[in-house]
This record gives sequence, structure tokens and C-alpha cells, in this order.
Amino acid sequence: MALERTFSIIKPDATRRNLTGKVNALLEAGGLRIVAQKRILLSRAQAETFYGVHKERPFFNDLVKFMTSGPIVAQVLEGENAVARNREIMGATNPANAAEGTIRKTFAESIEANSAHGSDSAENAAIEIAFFFSGLEIVG
Ligand code: GDP
Repeated sequence: MALERTFSIIKPDATRRNLTGKVNALLEAGGLRIVAQKRILLSRAQAETFYGVHKERPFFNDLVKFMTSGPIVAQVLEGENAVARNREIMGATNPANAAEGTIRKTFAESIEANSAHGSDSAENAAIEIAFFFSGLEIVG
């Protein structure tokens, strides 16, 4: 299996409740290494660009409003099959459907305020990592 990198966000509902450390503990216990991390407040334009693939969805405006409602923690995670592994650790989009012990089952407030983002493919991971981090900021 190959060492891989993925992109992750701890969303505003989780930073508001001071859960950054608890989310990171689940990521690390799940075998992923946090090789870059920064806490930032997204602008509306940045959130719209990041979620551009969802711009036709009915929840797009609400999602952008939520993602700019407070600080996020943007991360690069590294590990074996990191993209798929992080999706497992996060759990299903809707916390009602997420497995026990996942980030979303444990912490999410709703399908929107679901505490974590994780890239859905290696290709998107590369795009999302480049959107938030320079090569110098990633230390494996
Ligand atoms: P993910 O890959 O599991 O994050 O899911 P998606 O790519 O389908 O959706 C992106 C994000 O949009 C989710 O993580 C949620 O924050 C939000 N979202 C997804 N579906 C809904 C929905 O039906 N309503 C609302 N309000 N937000 C949603």
C-alpha cells in the first residue's frame, strides 16, 4: 500500500466547541499523521471556490455561510491509503448514518454542521492541498 496525502478540515461547529484536539486524536489514533495544519477564517469568495462543485445544490448558500461562520482548521494528513482512511474515520456525511466512533457520529451537530471535511479522491486531495498550503508548509 502506498503512503498517500489527503486534505482535511475541522469545520466551524467543531472549532466553536473547542474540539480541535479531540478530532485530531481520532485522526492520529486512526493511523494518520498531521503533516500540515493551520487555523483560518475563510472569506466568502474562498468558501465559494472551495465548494464550487456544489454551487448548483440547494444547500450551497447555507454551506458557504456555515463554513465562513467561524474559524476552520485546514490540514494535510498522511498515511497508508490516507484518502479512504480519512473518509472512514470521518464517517458518513449525515451523522445519523455515521458509524459508531467516527468523527461525525461522535461530534457532528447536523448533516451540514458535520465537524469534518475530507477529500473524496487522490485527485481532489491534490487540488485541495494546493488551494490551502504551499509545499514549504507541509512537513512529513
Ligand atoms: P462529504 O464529502 O461527506 O463532505 O459530503 P458532500 O461532498 O456531499 O457535501 C459537502 C458538505 O455539504 C457536507 O460535508 C455538508 O457539510 C454539506 N451538506 C451535504 N449535504 C447537505 C444537505 O443535504 N444539506 C445541507 N444543509 N448541507 C449539506
